[in-house]
Amino acid sequence: MSRTPLVSGNWKMHLNHLEAIQVCQKLSYELARHRYDRVEVSLHPPFVDLRSCQTVIDADRLEFKLGAQNCHDQSHGAFTGEVSPAMLAKLDVSYVIVGHSERRALFGETDEFVAAKAAAVAKAGMAPIVCVGETLDDREAGRAAEVVTTQLQGSLAKLTRAHFETLVVAYEPVWAIGTGRNASPQDAQDMCATVRQVVDDIRRGTGQHLRIQYGGSVKPANAQELLAQPDIDGALVGGASLDPTQFARIVQAAL
Ligand code: PEP
Repeated sequence: MSRTPLVSGNWKMHLNHLEAIQVCQKLSYELARHRYDRVEVSLHPPFVDLRSCQTVIDADRLEFKLGAQNCHDQSHGAFTGEVSPAMLAKLDVSYVIVGHSERRALFGETDEFVAAKAAAVAKAGMAPIVCVGETLDDREAGRAAEVVTTQLQGSLAKLTRAHFETLVVAYEPVWAIGTGRNASPQDAQDMCATVRQVVDDIRRGTGQHLRIQYGGSVKPANAQELLAQPDIDGALVGGASLDPTQFARIVQAAL
């Protein structure tokens, strides 16, 4: 089964809209030196940068997909400070990250809320990138697979069978995010194989075409080995995605 790798840049709360345009343009120059039609690239800027990035991607016919880092599960209403899936879809957003560990840990997002968001994103015609991953305590206690399984069962609970066709899961061990310490390729592979099996158990027949990203301190130096693993179909990249040269090298590693 061939799955097109997806390499996504999560800019978190970095880059204003002018800086975002520059990074899009620099990245396009970097990638233009290589053929990268066998890999999909999505960029996930802060909400306030989306319109600027959409405009530059559209005007310069850049090959990137636009992504968001989060959204609310409701389509409109009295939710001060929130952004709806419909608003994102109108900006040509293709992928929305939901349940990132920073949202879970810092903003108290539960599996139930993540499930509602993932379903709302899919209903609005975009693909959710659902993040799961264990803490260091979980791993050291031998609970990593159990924790990830519970997160998947909870976070995917509201998706229909059709939604599983576009679903992406990002396996991101919390202890590897922003720490410079990545999971070993074998540990990442083992957990991504578990993710595929669990998703297939949730919806029989959907595991084989599911795209699973690894995330957690992916850099040019470790990308090749991680992305060569059979159950790893791309990367969710934080810090290194802010530097177009580094990010382009990670994209090349996925080719
Ligand atoms: C992330 O933000 O999802 C992430 C994996 O960050 P980093 O690559 O910086 O570890």
